[in-house]
Amino acid sequence: MKVLVLNVGSSSVKFELIETSLDAIDNQTEKKLGRGLIEKIGMTTATVKFKSPDKPDHISMPPIWDHQSAIKQVMKLLTDPETGVINDISEIDAVGHRIVHGGEYFSNSVLIDAEVAAKIRDCFELAPLHNPHNLKGYDIMQEVLPDVPHAAVFDTSFHQSMPKHAFLYALPYSVYQRHKVRRYGFHGTSHRFMTYSLESRLVNRSRADFKVITVHLGNGCSVAAVDGGRSIDTSMGFTPLEGLIMGTRCGDLDPAVVLYMMAKEEISLHEMNTLMNKFSGLLGLSGTSSDVRELIEEMGNGNERALLALQAFSYRVRKYIGSYHAALGGTDYICFAGGIGENSPIIREMVLDGMEKLGIKLDKEKNNNLTGDGEITTDDSPVQVYVVATDEELVIARDTVRCIAGIVKH
Ligand code: ADP
Repeated sequence: MKVLVLNVGSSSVKFELIETSLDAIDNQTEKKLGRGLIEKIGMTTATVKFKSPDKPDHISMPPIWDHQSAIKQVMKLLTDPETGVINDISEIDAVGHRIVHGGEYFSNSVLIDAEVAAKIRDCFELAPLHNPHNLKGYDIMQEVLPDVPHAAVFDTSFHQSMPKHAFLYALPYSVYQRHKVRRYGFHGTSHRFMTYSLESRLVNRSRADFKVITVHLGNGCSVAAVDGGRSIDTSMGFTPLEGLIMGTRCGDLDPAVVLYMMAKEEISLHEMNTLMNKFSGLLGLSGTSSDVRELIEEMGNGNERALLALQAFSYRVRKYIGSYHAALGGTDYICFAGGIGENSPIIREMVLDGMEKLGIKLDKEKNNNLTGDGEITTDDSPVQVYVVATDEELVIARDTVRCIAGIVKH
């Protein structure tokens, strides 16, 4: 069946059409028919990109006023005689929607019905910048393709297995009861993808039998401790701001800093939020860029702030790996993914170098020469470290197929 994977943001729509089935999932023979991105919706500079294996890349700047016209554009791209990969939208058998927040309602992906939509709506206040747009994507697609199943795949659901002692903040318990303030965790699809990839391709061992620390390093970054295929802890919390240093987000912070800064500089809630989310992290520390590639280049040119930013970034990842090693009572594997995790041997080395006493023996040559997925530790390393090209769209397509078949997979 052909599954359209849809990720609708405030001003963007990311989509991919994947041909798949239960058999194709088992044999990992899914076919990616085409993927695209519509950015800057509602602006005069709105851009449409579409890529499919057998056709020339498409890029254009038609007027895209709102999400409705963006989805119309998606349908046009998919069916266009020049760019398209299907003849008619009736060839789409199902839609998988990325939904950021499932609150405490969802620990699995589900088919969307009125009740599910209401619960997603109920989580709006937990993810005001994401869930309303995600659900709007569903509402629009529901009108375009009313007769096919639509599935919701949540960023948070994988981490619903965290025990209470890991997900609660040490605030008065009533804060959790009254306002649902707790750690939820995000990037669940990527942490799951890493765990499944180890199981099915890299170590050929049931995930029920191993422990792994999964490290997703992209523009957003998070680590998870996965025991027997279940997340027992993760670095992101109530929002994706907690945890690692990220491109523009600060990660862990003494909460008193927020109060101090707001008083000291007389800044509003909104400004403080922007400072921590958009002007901190690698960008804040380096003063020049949030992009690791650029920072590595600047570091090579002797820019000390770029070096400092990358050292702080790697040190934070290292600390989380250490703490999850302890939380798991020792780990079998560590797995890196995301733009940085997949492509930057320098950062992987800065994170892992000198951790032999924790059983992690990095093989620098393997690390530097790795192309694609693979292992980067020495043959006698007690903990094996892998790199995996993550594929969140594929997880969403697979879950959609499984939801339709009534199969639940954590
Ligand atoms: P997103 O979280 O938005 O999906 P990505 O997973 O694409 O982001 O990760 C973006 C980050 O990956 C950027 O910091 C970018 O510099 C980094 N990156 C991509 N390619 C490389 C590379 N070859 N070397 C180092 N960093 C890289």
